[in-house]
Amino acid sequence: MSLFHRQILPAHPTPKDITSRRWLYIPYDRLTDLTGPLAQQPAAQTGIVIIESAAKSNRRPYHKKKLVLLIANMRHFALEQAARGVSVLFHFSPHDPGTALLEAQRQHNLPTLTTTQPAERELRIDLERAIAQGLQLNLLPDTTWLSTTEDFTEVFGPYKTGRSYVMDRFYRRMRQQTGILMESAKPIGGNYSYDAENRKPYKGQPPIPTPPTFPPDPITQEVIALVDRDYPSHFGSTTNFNLPTTQHDCDAMWAFALQHLLPHFGPYEDAMRDDHLQLFHSKTSAIINLGRLLPATLIQQVEQAATAGKIPLPSAEGFIRQLLGWREFMRHLHQQTDGYRLLEPTTKPGAPRLDSETWETPDLEGATPNALNANLPLPAAYWGTPSGLHCIDTVVAQVIDEGWTHHIPRLMVLSNLATLCGFSPRQLTDWFWFSFIDAYDWVVETNVLGMATYADGGLTATKPYVSGAAYINKMSNYCPHCQYDPKRSTGPGSCPFTALYWTFLERNQPTLGNNFRLQMPYTTLRKKSPQDLVQLRTRAEEAITHLQSLPFPKPSVV
Ligand code: SF4
Repeated sequence: MSLFHRQILPAHPTPKDITSRRWLYIPYDRLTDLTGPLAQQPAAQTGIVIIESAAKSNRRPYHKKKLVLLIANMRHFALEQAARGVSVLFHFSPHDPGTALLEAQRQHNLPTLTTTQPAERELRIDLERAIAQGLQLNLLPDTTWLSTTEDFTEVFGPYKTGRSYVMDRFYRRMRQQTGILMESAKPIGGNYSYDAENRKPYKGQPPIPTPPTFPPDPITQEVIALVDRDYPSHFGSTTNFNLPTTQHDCDAMWAFALQHLLPHFGPYEDAMRDDHLQLFHSKTSAIINLGRLLPATLIQQVEQAATAGKIPLPSAEGFIRQLLGWREFMRHLHQQTDGYRLLEPTTKPGAPRLDSETWETPDLEGATPNALNANLPLPAAYWGTPSGLHCIDTVVAQVIDEGWTHHIPRLMVLSNLATLCGFSPRQLTDWFWFSFIDAYDWVVETNVLGMATYADGGLTATKPYVSGAAYINKMSNYCPHCQYDPKRSTGPGSCPFTALYWTFLERNQPTLGNNFRLQMPYTTLRKKSPQDLVQLRTRAEEAITHLQSLPFPKPSVV
């Protein structure tokens, strides 16, 4: 019997616990007793069911560190609840979470369970299916979110195909409604957003503090062994796993970020370095998305620190905008569009899914909007085969090592290359989904199919977020360490990004040519000579052919 089994066994419910306690289902991504039904009743009168589902872990080749993070946090949460007197039914199952919950209810004669409305569409579907088969489950609103569906629809109205949704309108509404960073109904400092001040490259100062690491304890070590044994061909590795898995360590990670990273977060938010991949970012998104840290608490603490002069306003506002604005906005859009499925009649067909000959890929489901008709398969560079593009190879290596990079390498390196080349946005979405430790359907599908690739045709972004080498060169130190020259766009040794950028615009002129935010680049494109255009096309085709020719590594090698 494993250490975890031995430790959780005393909290296993007796027949009296089953009948006398009020029973809750705690989903894998709502590991908190600070809000929701678990916060509202005494521990001694409460029982919880936690499902460890092998089918969920096997749904896609999730990064091994993501599986360790998720399973180890579930197990530690179970032990933490047991320690405060909650009865814990920890149910292991080969089935999906909904089927497993029904199985547990029947096996143990559990009364009707209560839970909150799941964040993930996938879990909602699993539970709906189980309810149809007899699962007794009450669903309550999820109070870990900061906004309601009504907050969203009062700003934009009910979802309508073909319209655009601008986060800024929703964010202003949330600032006004909550009073966060507001004074006398006006934004503190005079502006709602300081995004324009948060775009400095990092040149070595101020020094970057070393974030704390959390060596795995025996419970987490057991999970690492389980993941290595049961999911050997999944992405990445468990080596050097050092993420928090207890509430104490999750709180410590956040305390460090608040005190040492947030004061410099804003100005260098968009900077990228190959010698320091995290800069002033933290990985708290992975912990927030598990429910271990509550957005409301984090925002309150950041606001207090800003008021006390410990965090400059642009840094505080930049962080709060991500939680109060972007994160809430994206989950509403996902829900309103039924996981982007409502977009599909207006868009072109999607591409084939991941290469099943090289990677074990279950029957992935998901919407396939594809407004730019991008149908090339995602190349092996995203699986770690060196491409020679230093920016891509650096960022992919970090994803393989850690399951994480901050948002600018995600947007302006990984997604930028895919969009410029015309790689399938659905394949890119699936890749982000399994390879990032903070990715869940509501956040990854909206961010990748929407903002990152423009596959949604402008639902979430007024233009595609694409650039040539100039942006990457300005915001990072990648280019001086690359074999390619970012200042040249054609000929041998030139950076492929710039040629790919111009040919992307040329190729998509029928869809994007009238976009008011792209008027300047299209004016420049029209001034290029026929000879220049031929050279740019040649360089772009060379780059795409090179990327497509890279061999896939064997799954076990990564
Ligand atoms: Fe990336 Fe081009 Fe810079 Fe190389 S030169 S790091 S390929 S942007």
